[in-house]
Amino acid sequence: MNKEGHVLNAVLLGIGLGFILEPSGTFETLRTIVAVTIPVTLGALFPDVDTAFGKHRKTLHNLPVLGIFVAFPLLFANLSYVWIGVFTHYVLDYLGSRRGIALFYPLSKREYGFPSGVTTSSRFANVVTIVVTAVELAAAFVIVHVLPEYFDLGAIAAMLPV
Ligand SMILES: [Zn+2]
Repeated sequence: MNKEGHVLNAVLLGIGLGFILEPSGTFETLRTIVAVTIPVTLGALFPDVDTAFGKHRKTLHNLPVLGIFVAFPLLFANLSYVWIGVFTHYVLDYLGSRRGIALFYPLSKREYGFPSGVTTSSRFANVVTIVVTAVELAAAFVIVHVLPEYFDLGAIAAMLPV
């Protein structure tokens, strides 16, 4: 997926998450949208930094990097929501390309992708981006409003040795 696709995905995801986290439709919803959209967009742009530093689709396109961004806010109360941007970048690259990404780098250089991936230049790229965003928002809605007891990040943080 190209940079436009990643930004479109991140901005739509941030707006949707703002409403899911704060559905009141008040100023607080707007505040939540800003608080979520900016770190998610930064996170969505981050993996392609490896076009300049390291090996593209490997160095910053893997599960250990995602793990760092998931753990960081739990350990340091900072960089919240950035992991969502990194995660959704991987989802789009996995689905939105035939080449795929090296999920287990540096353990393995093998790149994993969806067999019938839609190339970044395809006229279907935006459709794929919108569909992926909608599925992610549906998943976020379920996590936040239907099954919150299974996703208690506060409890996970309390188990960490800090
Ligand atoms: Zn990428």
